[in-house]
Amino acid sequence: MTDLTKLSAAALADKLASREVSSVEATQAHLDRIAAVDADIHAFLHVSERALDVAAGIDTRRAAGEQLGPLAGVPLAIKDVLVTTDMPSTSGSKILEGYMSPFDATVVARSRVAGLVPLGKTNMDEFAMGSSTEHSAYGPTRNPWDLNRIPGGSGGGSAAAVAAFEAPLALGSDTGGSIRQPAHVTGTVGMKPTYGGVSRYGAIALASSLDQVGPVTRTVLDAGMLHDVIGGHDPHDSTSLAEAWPSFAAAAREGATGDVLKGLRVGVIKELPDSGFQAGVSESFRTALGALQAHGAEIVEISAPHFEYGVAAYYLVLPAEASSNLAKFDSVRFGMRIDVPGGTVEDVMAATRDAGFGDEVKRRIILGTYALSAGYYDAYYGSAQKVRTLIQRDFDEAFAQVDVIATPSAPTTAFKLGEKIDDPLQMYLNDVTTIPANLAGVPGISIPSGLAAEDGLPVGIQFLAPAREDARLYRVGAALEAVLVDSWGGPLLDRAPVLNSMGGAR
Ligand code: GLN
Repeated sequence: MTDLTKLSAAALADKLASREVSSVEATQAHLDRIAAVDADIHAFLHVSERALDVAAGIDTRRAAGEQLGPLAGVPLAIKDVLVTTDMPSTSGSKILEGYMSPFDATVVARSRVAGLVPLGKTNMDEFAMGSSTEHSAYGPTRNPWDLNRIPGGSGGGSAAAVAAFEAPLALGSDTGGSIRQPAHVTGTVGMKPTYGGVSRYGAIALASSLDQVGPVTRTVLDAGMLHDVIGGHDPHDSTSLAEAWPSFAAAAREGATGDVLKGLRVGVIKELPDSGFQAGVSESFRTALGALQAHGAEIVEISAPHFEYGVAAYYLVLPAEASSNLAKFDSVRFGMRIDVPGGTVEDVMAATRDAGFGDEVKRRIILGTYALSAGYYDAYYGSAQKVRTLIQRDFDEAFAQVDVIATPSAPTTAFKLGEKIDDPLQMYLNDVTTIPANLAGVPGISIPSGLAAEDGLPVGIQFLAPAREDARLYRVGAALEAVLVDSWGGPLLDRAPVLNSMGGAR
């Protein structure tokens, strides 16, 4: 029998639709895989007790001849930043330990309507602050390529679950790179949609002007299929765009078969210094550009002089918004409370926040409140907003000349657990190439571009497109993916040494 966990979501969906496989069988296969490997990977904070019942319900409806959506019966892992009524939602924080939401995030509700089977909640850096998942209050997730290395962050759990074949699909959130950077270090696909393209209702807010929810998958087509389910206007989210979107799955299919690379103008940023990048990352990026060129794309040097100031601006905008968003964890409305006998309300709040938040969260709350304080507002927050505008202008000018911009998705391959945890600046610099898209609100996708020669670890290439042109990223991503997978003789994940020996014979 085929190993059901090895199939792409699209291939599994075909088998479900033809009733060659039941959703109960597919779900059980993934639960077995989780049981076999997750003690080592720790991608999940919670595994659903209801998954098999939900799967059985889908099977019954299918047997009754009901017309179901394209992904009906396919299991789905959900980043713990997204609230769910039937599983706890902690956002990786102690302060929300055991918290049960009275409602589902819109993306979760839409997934349920589409017949996807929630498998569990995935690990993440506390409140999505981090690039390694080491800031989770519940212990780190490990990279399936090498268990001593980080799976990226903040969505390391979702990326590792998909890379380790514990789930065919996952949901993530990306405020500065938390979908794309984990994809880069785990050899998977991650898409950050246009700001406003996917509802954030029920996504525990980190920085509201930057947060986007999106798909984490092993193929570009799977990402497009999941995006079709979760995307589109939501009246519960005031930043949600009202427009009708094209089918992203159709765009990915067109890309994989068509000639979309012919004449495509791919911008490469001349100000991005080679020096900040690991040699194998730059090399893999150049190889991918070569493949694009060989299939008719034109590589165009563009100037985006403010791109490199993205990290600095982000670390003012993000803490400012985060400090305000996290004020609601006040020991009264949500989650944990530390009682202080004889103390005031303020004493209880302070004790709760002191015990409930980890170091990185406290660091950013302090940074944010400082940047927003009356005397410094213009000097810090105001300046950061100006830089943000300059970055948006860089993008506008660049997209007048090119169809997409390409960069490496992150500067290095997966680093070792513990290597950067005590050096916040080094941790922050992981997102140099991903952050500008969040600041400008444009979509970005990371797809595997190969393995770095020096360490054999995966590398991703990122494509950026103008706002609302998400479909272009699926076309281009699927086209390059087809070319590269062909040149490798199969998917990159087939070559993950640790992964392929995990959980017994596969
Ligand atoms: N690594 C970035 C940060 O720490 C991105 C986080 C995210 O996208 N949620 O803020």
